[in-house]
Amino acid sequence: MSVYLDNAATSFPKPRAVIEAAARALEEVGASPGRGAHRHAREATAIVADCRRKTAAILGVKDPDRVVFTKNATESINLVLKGWLRPGDRVLYSAMEHNSVVRPLSRLASQGVNIEVIPCSPGGAPDLGALTQMLRSEARLVVLVHVSNINGALMPVAEASEVCARARVPLFLDAAQSAGVQPIEAEELGIGMLACSGHKALLGPAGVGILYVRPDLDVLPLMEGGTGSRSEQLEQPEFCPDRYESGTPNLPGLAGLCAGIGYIRETGMDSIRNHEIGIAHYLENELWQIPGVRVLEPEKRGSGTVSFVVEGMNPADTGSILDQAFDIAVRTGLHCAPLAHRTLGTFPEGTVRVSPGFSTTIENIEYFLNGLRWIVTRRG
Ligand code: PMP
Repeated sequence: MSVYLDNAATSFPKPRAVIEAAARALEEVGASPGRGAHRHAREATAIVADCRRKTAAILGVKDPDRVVFTKNATESINLVLKGWLRPGDRVLYSAMEHNSVVRPLSRLASQGVNIEVIPCSPGGAPDLGALTQMLRSEARLVVLVHVSNINGALMPVAEASEVCARARVPLFLDAAQSAGVQPIEAEELGIGMLACSGHKALLGPAGVGILYVRPDLDVLPLMEGGTGSRSEQLEQPEFCPDRYESGTPNLPGLAGLCAGIGYIRETGMDSIRNHEIGIAHYLENELWQIPGVRVLEPEKRGSGTVSFVVEGMNPADTGSILDQAFDIAVRTGLHCAPLAHRTLGTFPEGTVRVSPGFSTTIENIEYFLNGLRWIVTRRG
C-alpha cells in the first residue's frame, strides 16, 4: 500500500475533474487570459472569471473582483505585509504563525516596523484578553492564522475579529490551512485581508495563491506590470483585481482550482471536514495507546492535521522509516513554523505530522499505525 498523509502541505491525490480541467486548459485553450480578443483568449478569460466567482463564493466575498490571484499564500501574505505596513507602524501577530508571516515581518522589523507577538496557550489558542490589552495602544494590523498547520488548532476568528473591530485595526487572516475545510465568511466577519493557497484543501494544482483585501484598505501592490487592461496607461490600474495581478496568470492552475472548488461544492464542505476530523480523532485515540507517543492536541480542532512526538526518537527518523519501509508520506520537523513549535513546546526537533485528505480511508490510517507500532517496538 502507498499512503499519502501530507495534505497540509499539498493535497494529493486531486479529484479527477481537477486534473482534467488543468489538462484541458493546456491542451485546448492554451491562451493568455485577458490578453487578446481571439476565441482562445476569450475562453481563457472565461475560465479565470469562473474561478474568481467560485473562489469569492467559498470565501464569503460578494464581489468577485475583490479576489486576487497570486502564485501562493506566501506571495499573498508578503503583498499585504509589505503593501500595508510602514516604518513606525505596530503589528501584532500570534505565536502560532507560519514563517510565511514571521519572516517578512522580521524583514520589516529591520526596516523600522514594530512587531509584537500575541501569546497563545500551550495548545495554540491565542489569548484574546492579551490581544485586547495590546490593542489599547495604536496598531496598524493584527495577523492570525485560522487553522494551525501543526496541530490543526482552530482559532477563534469571530471573537478576534470583534476585538480588532472595536480597536479599528484590520485583522489579516492566514487561511492557508482552513480554506476548503472551514466555512469562511470573510465579509460577514469583517476580515480586513485574507490569504490562502489553491493547492491545499481547495484541491487545485500548485502555483495559485489567493488574496482578499477589503475595499477600504489601501494596500499597495508588490509588483507592477502588464494586466491586459488600460494598456495605454504608464501607471498600474487602481482597480481590483488588476491592481495586484501583473503578468500572465497560471491558467491550468486556475482551471484546476475552479474544478477543485466545484468538487468541494458537490461533495459538501461539511462532509469533507467531518470525514477528515473524524479520521483525526480516530488517529489521536489510537496514537495515545502507543507507548511513548504524545499527541499535540488542540483545544479546538479545525482540520484533520495531527502532530505527535515519540519519546526518545527524532521525528525525522520516524518519517524516513515510514517512507522507506512502508511508502507512507508524512511530514516531520518544524513545518516552516518554528515560532509555533516554541509555543507548543516542540522546538527544535518538531513533530511527526499526519494530515489526511478527503480520500484518506481508515484502512490507510490502520496501515500507518501498524507501521508506526513496528517502528516504536524496535526503537532504541
Ligand atoms: N501559512 C500556513 C499556515 C501554511 O500552512 C502555509 C503552507 N505550508 C503557508 C502559509 C504558505 O502557503 P504557500 O505554500 O501557498 O505559500
